[in-house]
Amino acid sequence: MSKREFQTEVSQLLQLIIHSLYSHPEIFLRELISNSSDALDKLRHLTLTEDTYRALPFSPRIDLELDAEKQTLSISDTGIGMNEEDLVSHLGTIARSGTKDFLAQLSGDAKKDSNLIGQFGVGFYSAFMVADRIEVVSRKAGEEKAWRWVSDGNSGFEIEPGERAVAGTTVLLHFNEEGKQYADGGRLQQIVRKYSNHIAFPIFLTYDKSEWSEAEKKITKTRTTEQVNAASALWRRPKNEITEEDYKELYKSIAGDWSDPLFWFHTKAEGSLEYTTLFYVPAKAPLDLYQAEYKVGVKLYVKRVFIMDDAKELLPQYLRFVRGIIDSEDLPLNVSRELLQQNRVLTSIRTASVKKILSELKNIASKQPEQYLTFINEYNRPLKEGLYGDFANREALLDLVRFKSTRVEGLTSLADVKSRMQEGQKSIYYITGGAESLLRTSPLLEIYKRKDLEVLILDDDIDEIVFSAIDKYGDIDLKAVNRASTSEDLKDEAEPDKAAAIQPLLDKFKATLGDRVKDVRASVRLADSPSCIVSDEEEPSYKMQQMMRAMGQKDLPGLLPTLEINPDHEIVKKLLSRPDDPILQDAAWLLFDQALLMEGVPLQDPATFVQRLNRILNLSI
Ligand code: ADP
Ligand code: MG
Repeated sequence: MSKREFQTEVSQLLQLIIHSLYSHPEIFLRELISNSSDALDKLRHLTLTEDTYRALPFSPRIDLELDAEKQTLSISDTGIGMNEEDLVSHLGTIARSGTKDFLAQLSGDAKKDSNLIGQFGVGFYSAFMVADRIEVVSRKAGEEKAWRWVSDGNSGFEIEPGERAVAGTTVLLHFNEEGKQYADGGRLQQIVRKYSNHIAFPIFLTYDKSEWSEAEKKITKTRTTEQVNAASALWRRPKNEITEEDYKELYKSIAGDWSDPLFWFHTKAEGSLEYTTLFYVPAKAPLDLYQAEYKVGVKLYVKRVFIMDDAKELLPQYLRFVRGIIDSEDLPLNVSRELLQQNRVLTSIRTASVKKILSELKNIASKQPEQYLTFINEYNRPLKEGLYGDFANREALLDLVRFKSTRVEGLTSLADVKSRMQEGQKSIYYITGGAESLLRTSPLLEIYKRKDLEVLILDDDIDEIVFSAIDKYGDIDLKAVNRASTSEDLKDEAEPDKAAAIQPLLDKFKATLGDRVKDVRASVRLADSPSCIVSDEEEPSYKMQQMMRAMGQKDLPGLLPTLEINPDHEIVKKLLSRPDDPILQDAAWLLFDQALLMEGVPLQDPATFVQRLNRILNLSI
């Protein structure tokens, strides 16, 4: 027997692990099972690729054996195994590159250091959180000798020849005080299902199962061996081996949904980063879609080992309705939440995943338009949130969002609107700021109707905020119709004589309305209505300003609306012909107030409005 010292870094690491992970020691089992899984992967690879190994028997499995009396648990695999040299270098030193640098960065401040530890695997040594003595018996595939490694985690380790019938490794833990809680078959099953359910190899648990014995009329204990994990990791299998039913079943188990998903996108990336993603879109929007505390739908796995299911940074917030799995080969098992936010690997996966989801959706939109409509009915709104927040994917999102329009029944895409544009038309127009019925009857649309220009009806309450931040679709301008500056598409209509002709009336109106308006001017956009309200290009619309004030925004500059008057309207013409009639004052206010009402803005002084209306009514009877 030879006694060896741990490399100094190992002792350092051990201390750190015990201090930073004491709050969830159960991860020891995840680590040991993942080591077994790695060892099985390695041997499988060799039997497939190397002649000397091809003939070796390979029956991959992982066995957990619990001896509750002796307080021991063993984790065995039929994997690649380790010889003497391997045991010394893998379990006695820290060979992994970068680990020394990592240790050099440690500050001694426990809190900071436990964040840092997420950068790399805690691995085998985590077992010392629950064990005061660990024995490893291992035999390397293709070799005759077995070796026994023993350590208490403090005073180094010992190595001697051992016994093992077949290649593989057995790790035997002697539980310490902390570990006692795991000498429980039920508990172990739970932990395996939580973290290792999708490990590709079967995991068996042997323990004393308590069962009611009819014969003896009491609870008896029977030594039992059961497979505990599903061993599926469906997402890691080649796509052509996975049936539609398989996909749906996995969805239901991870999303906790009874219904089938609408679509799924399964991607395997190989290259500088290796990962698999499987994303599902639920048929119905999750109930918490619009709650601040929504539940994250994507689970993070590292090498088929479950890591976490509550990391909001896996996908951007607007894709929070997506369910599924991200399984990375490149992240450490112990990656911490704090680290996810700035992790380069995860950032790349996330960026590629978003692109993938959006491009798949675009595909569906063009190939299965009816299915896509079902999708849009549930998720148009979150996509709009993306338009606002995800600048990098704005173009893709603009193609995915659907709109109501003055031209078509139902919903339309910007691409379709573009294809319907008139010869020489410069912009695509939209109207915001109220309910659909209000928008559809707005006087602002009159000129567009007359010129046969399509206008999008944006009646969602976030539309105004979202679309005021977007001014282009490709090379085409997106313009709100309630902006003061009129577009080139309307310009030819403006007849300077008409504006000049009603100038005296405009002046009187301006004098009457005083500081309630920014300006009063002749309109080119009205047909059937006498007046309307517009805002400047850069300012929030008048309706929007009202909303901002209502929400408590106090320091808004006093933005005033511009009143536009229709020179061709009968009322306006009559008023023009009676320059000295006292009715002009009432008329100015009524034309202003009705324009506000049509915008959906409540009147400041309804009583005065009614008095004026009645005066005029009285005159007409
Ligand atoms: P990691 O798994 O990140 O490499 P660990 O501390 O978990 O780090 O394990 C250290 C090394 O010990 C592994 O890389 C592997 O070479 C070896 N090892 C651990 N467990 C086993 C096992 N069951 N079979 C074969 N080799 C193992
Ligand atoms: Mg490991």
